[in-house]
Amino acid sequence: MPPLLRVPYTDPLPSPRIIPTSAATASGAIAALVDFLTAHSHNGSAAVARERGDVGASNSTVLLTGAGISVASGLADYRGANGTYTLNRKYVPIYFNEFCASHEARKRYWARSFLGWTNLHKARPNAAHRAVGRLGELGIVGRVVTQNVDSFHAHAHPALPTTELHGYLRSLVCLSCANEYPRSTFQTQLSALNPAWAAFLAEMVATGALDTENPAERRAKGLVTNPDGDVDLPNAPYSTFRYPACPACVAAPPRAPDGRMARVDVDDDGAWAPGSTGGILKPAVVMFGESIPAATKTAAERAVDAASRILVVGSSLATYSAWRLVKRARENGMPIAILNMGGVRGEEAFFAHVPEGNTGRAAVRCSEDADKILPQVVKILADVKRERKGES
Ligand SMILES: [Zn+2]
Repeated sequence: MPPLLRVPYTDPLPSPRIIPTSAATASGAIAALVDFLTAHSHNGSAAVARERGDVGASNSTVLLTGAGISVASGLADYRGANGTYTLNRKYVPIYFNEFCASHEARKRYWARSFLGWTNLHKARPNAAHRAVGRLGELGIVGRVVTQNVDSFHAHAHPALPTTELHGYLRSLVCLSCANEYPRSTFQTQLSALNPAWAAFLAEMVATGALDTENPAERRAKGLVTNPDGDVDLPNAPYSTFRYPACPACVAAPPRAPDGRMARVDVDDDGAWAPGSTGGILKPAVVMFGESIPAATKTAAERAVDAASRILVVGSSLATYSAWRLVKRARENGMPIAILNMGGVRGEEAFFAHVPEGNTGRAAVRCSEDADKILPQVVKILADVKRERKGES
């Protein structure tokens, strides 16, 4: 098997065919999703779950989420109406090889990330993330697999396990020694190493250009925060930006891949110095062009195999790593539901054999805002559970 690379996919996608046709309205979509999530699964756990008063089979749904679920938190989507690819056709994310090989590319990346972090750090999970947590408490969702790197799932529902397919921005990882460090501490270090940038950032914060409550205003002032937490800032002098080296590697230089000792030099203030051959810190995300760790890939596959149905929320499945999980669910014979604004890659194949008279339990495809729909779905499911408990 070739390694699973994360690559951007930017071809336009056709509009979805809504399934069932009644799901074309918000109330119809809510009803179809309730039907989907309460359908009895084919595996044996459904009876046990019903005895315990759970709706449907216990923990039988796996949830797959993408950037669309975080839009209501003030983060940009990749492909929606206000998405990164839609508003800024020239947006080119940094690739892993470029980050590893080029000091200049890292300066540009960290300068943009330095400005974008304030916004990301302030952003909070929204009603959709909280609804996902409630689905976990109701025994309907057993695991979340997310493409997002914003840590919102972990914050909104720490008790419901989440597999972060593309890693997380809350930490940095050293390319030489694999030690991890918190991103918030790193931000303070970037401020100290780059006082002019820190002053500029303070000004941006003061003018409200980075205000998460005002994404439209922020866009009007020429700043766009991308889902990976960086900010577009054309023509900025990136070349002067400085970033810290891994402190563990500064203290004890690691071995380079060729077996020789790596050199980790820093300037007088502790910034990574060109000519060093190790101690480079990278965000703990899977960058474009980078392989997903084998353990993460396996965990996501196991989550799909252990479930009896899959619900996709806020993802166009444009990245192969997410698309193949739904393909896997399809091959397992699992019902599929997709709640996403706009088209989804290859979705015709996922809904090729929807039975006549399907009201949601066999398949759902709706194009609505997750933060409007999911809380309503949860409300109905909680009522159903209460009624069933009252009957027994
Ligand atoms: Zn290190």
